Formats: sequence, C-alpha cells, structure tokens
Amino acid sequence: MGWLRDWQRRRILARHRIDDALWRRAQRHLPFLRGLSAEEQRRLKELAVLLLAEKQVTPVRGLELSDDDRVEIALQACLPVLELGLDWYHGWVGIVVHPADFHVQRSETGDDGVVHEWDDDLAGESWPGGPVVLSWEALDDSGSVADGGANVVIHEFAHKLDMAGGEADGVPPLPSRAARERWIEVFDAEFDRFRAELDAGKETFLDPYAAEHKAEFFAVASEAFFESPNALRKEFPKLYDLFMGFYKQDPSRRLTT
Ligand SMILES: [Zn+2]
Repeated sequence: MGWLRDWQRRRILARHRIDDALWRRAQRHLPFLRGLSAEEQRRLKELAVLLLAEKQVTPVRGLELSDDDRVEIALQACLPVLELGLDWYHGWVGIVVHPADFHVQRSETGDDGVVHEWDDDLAGESWPGGPVVLSWEALDDSGSVADGGANVVIHEFAHKLDMAGGEADGVPPLPSRAARERWIEVFDAEFDRFRAELDAGKETFLDPYAAEHKAEFFAVASEAFFESPNALRKEFPKLYDLFMGFYKQDPSRRLTT
C-alpha cells in the first residue's frame, strides 16, 4: 500500500504548507531550528504538514491550541526524523496535550506477587503502540538544554524511535547486527560513565533523570543532541558520534550551543 500513502502525501502537500511568517515565528520560539539549510527547512516543513495530517493532536482539560502551537509541536517532533522519514512514527495516531504536568497512578506486580502502587507527575509520556502525551506547560518551557531547558517533544518522540525496535531500552532499530552490537557497547559504556559521575558528585549538564534507565538516557541525550549539540559533544563525544550515525545529522554544525 506504499503507493497509496505516497499519493495521499503528495495530495496533502499540494494543498497545505507552512507559510514564511509562521515559520519565522516558530524559529523565534524554537532557537534550535536555526541553521538549517533552505533544503532542510523545506523538508522539515513538509514533514510537519504530513505529521499533522496523519496524527491526531488532541488538547484536553480545556486547553486550546492555535495553528502556531500545533505546527510548533509538529516541527519539533519531525526534527529527529528529518533524515529518517516519517514512517519511523508509524503504527499509532494520538498526540494528547494536557495544559500542565499530569498525574498518573502506577501499579506493578513484583515477582513475589506483591503489588506496588505509586503516583507520578509527568511532563510527557509515550506508550508503545499508543499515544504521545505532552504537558503544554513543560512544552512552553523548551529552550536550550545547556541553559537548563528541556524538550519534552523531542524526548517523547525519541522514546517512539527507541520503541520502533520493540521495548524502550535505549536501542533504536539499527541497520545491521554489527551496528546494533556496536551501539550497545558504546551506549552502555557512556551510560555507566554518566551514572558513575553522578554518584561521584560530578557536575554534568545532562538531567540526572537520564540515569534512571537506558531508555531515559537515550531520550534525554536526544534532547541535548538537537538543542545543545556542542555541549553534548564535549561531554559525551562517543555518544555524540553514535547519535550522528543514527539520526544522520550533525546539529553541532548548525548551532553554537
Ligand atoms: Zn522519558
């Protein structure tokens, strides 16, 4: 059915586009979109148009989103797949946006049969095969990771890329078994080093939350890769190279952060 999808996409692109004024407003808001070549900008805008056509953005709890808001979510979601393509986000449709951080109740049954329950306040969440959930408050806060900002959209969509290969484990689908083995070797070593540095009380610019799980390390480091690539490259050069190979981009060439 590839031809049908291609035809539908061509039809959507013939009818919809992101105009220059909207693009300039988005760039002012999202400084990490600067430095893209004219050709990259064109493709990113097309991907964002297609994402908005193929996914369903649903604001909840009284939140209202303008066209600008929707386009900005889509541009951020598409930056990681600029060179990979939109099919990486295949298999789910929902993008749910809460006005602020949202509360979820968790429960898990341990091997001993004991049920553990706890509450979480989340800025975002990504379900395997299900929706991406975002907090607008957290989203509005996005800036440079180096300045203490975070990017909840890139974070949650990075989880989607990770999960495209099965469970969220910090290992996205890779082209070969050798590439996968190489990924695990480098990624695990960087993860262990990060955790050891945190334990030793060393200052690191990555959010300590990244130490919780390899999947979180992948998502948090992906935020940094696109927003503060030079800082990531300086602190985690091997991880940076690994990400450059996976995302097929080198954001450090277009940004100074
Ligand atoms: Zn996460």
